Amino acid sequence: MQYTEIMVRYGELSTKGKNKRVFIQQLVKNVSNVLRDIDGIKIKGNDDRMHIHLNGADFAVINERLKKVFGIQTFSPVVRVEKEMSVINATAQEMMREVYTGIETFKVASKRQDHKFELDTYGLNLAVGNAIFDIFPDIKVQMKKPDIELRVDIRSDGAYLSHQVIKGASGYPVGVNSDLAHLMLSGGIDSPVAGYLMLKRGVNIEAVHFASPPYTSPESLEKTKNLTRILSEYSGSSIQFIEVPFTKIQEEIKKHADDGYQMTLTRRMMLRCIDRIRAERGGSLIVNGESLGQVASQTVQSMVAINEVTNTPIIRPVVTMDKTEIIELAERIGTFEMSIQPFEDCCTIFAPKQPKTRPQLDKVHKFESYLDIDALVDEACAGITITPISAATKVEDDEFDDLF
Ligand code: ATP
Ligand code: MG
Repeated sequence: MQYTEIMVRYGELSTKGKNKRVFIQQLVKNVSNVLRDIDGIKIKGNDDRMHIHLNGADFAVINERLKKVFGIQTFSPVVRVEKEMSVINATAQEMMREVYTGIETFKVASKRQDHKFELDTYGLNLAVGNAIFDIFPDIKVQMKKPDIELRVDIRSDGAYLSHQVIKGASGYPVGVNSDLAHLMLSGGIDSPVAGYLMLKRGVNIEAVHFASPPYTSPESLEKTKNLTRILSEYSGSSIQFIEVPFTKIQEEIKKHADDGYQMTLTRRMMLRCIDRIRAERGGSLIVNGESLGQVASQTVQSMVAINEVTNTPIIRPVVTMDKTEIIELAERIGTFEMSIQPFEDCCTIFAPKQPKTRPQLDKVHKFESYLDIDALVDEACAGITITPISAATKVEDDEFDDLF
C-alpha cells in the first residue's frame, strides 16, 4: 500500500503557549534532520499534529527512524483519497487485504470533521464495514480492542484511512531547552543508557570518555565511539565525542593512594576534568551511569566523597534501576551488544581489589595532597580531542569487524 502521509501525534504536550510552539518547532527540526536524505517529503507541524507528506517516499525506512525521535507519542501511516464513497470503500478493502490473515477481529472507527459529507459516522462505519464483509464474509467484528482498527477520517481536504498506531519514543524533542549535559561515557552498559534517558528529556549531550593508553586499547576507544554513534540516532544530530588523556592521572593515583582509595580518587579526578570541560563548553549538567549499590564506588557515602569536588548538578538517570532493568533498556535502544564487547576500560584495569565502600574524606584529602591536582587537570584538559560523531559516521568499521 502506498501511503500518502504520516500523521504524528505529539508527546507530553501539556505545556501551552510559547512552550508548545518551541516544542513543535524543535520536533519539526529534528524530524527533518533524521529524514533529510529522503527525497520528496514535506513536513508540516500544526498545533495538534505533525504531517509528513511522503510524495512517493517509502514508509518502511521512515518508520524505523521516526521511532527514535523523542517528542512523538504515536504515529500512523495514512492514505488520503477523494471524499467519494466508492473510492473510500475500495481503499479500505485494499488496506484490509494487506493486513487481514484470516484470524483477526476488526472494527471501523469513523470521524467526520466535514459535516457536509453525505454520511454521518454511523453510516460511514456501516458502509465501510459492509465493503469489508464483501471481500471477507467470515471476518469477525469486535468493538472492544479489535486486532485491526480501520480508521476513516473525513476532513475538508479529503478522506484519510489508516489502520496502525505506532508507538513513538515519547519524551521531549532533543534541544527543546538550551541546556547541554556532559555525559561520562565508559564502554559499559550503564552510561549509554544514562545518555539515552537524558536525551529523552530533551537535553543535548556531549560524550566525555577518559582513556588511558597503553593500558586501554584502541578497540576500547572505538567501542565507546560506536556507542556514541548509536546514541546519536536518538539525538537527531551529531554528538561531540571528547576523549580525555587519563593515563598520567591514573599512574599518579596508583603511585600515591592506598589501594582502597584509588577508585574514589579516580572518580574525583574525572569529575574535576569533566567539570572544567563542561564550563569551557557552556554545559550546565554532568550525567553518569551510576546505580545505587551496584558496585563499591556507588554507595551514597562514595557519592558524597566524589561529589565534594563540584557544585555542578550530577544527574544519574539509572540510579534507582536494577541491573536487569538497565540491560533490558540497553537491549531495546540497541547499545547492549556493543557494550558487552570485551574491551577493558581504564577503571577495569586500575580497579583496586577492594575499593572502600565508605571512603573517609580526611583520608581522601591526605592522598590528594600528594598529587599536583591543578597541573594534572590542566594537562589532561589541554590534551583533549573532540570528534563529532553522527549516525552516518562509520567508526573504523573494517578494523572493528575483524575483532568480533
Ligand atoms: P558503566 O556500565 O556505565 O561503565 P559501571 O557500572 O561499570 O558503569 P563504574 O565503572 O563504577 O560503573 O562507573 C560509574 C560511572 O562512571 C559510569 O557509568 C560512567 O558514567 C563513569 N565512567 C566510568 N569509567 C569511565 C570512563 N573511562 N570514561 C568516562 N566515564 C566513565
Ligand atoms: Mg564501567
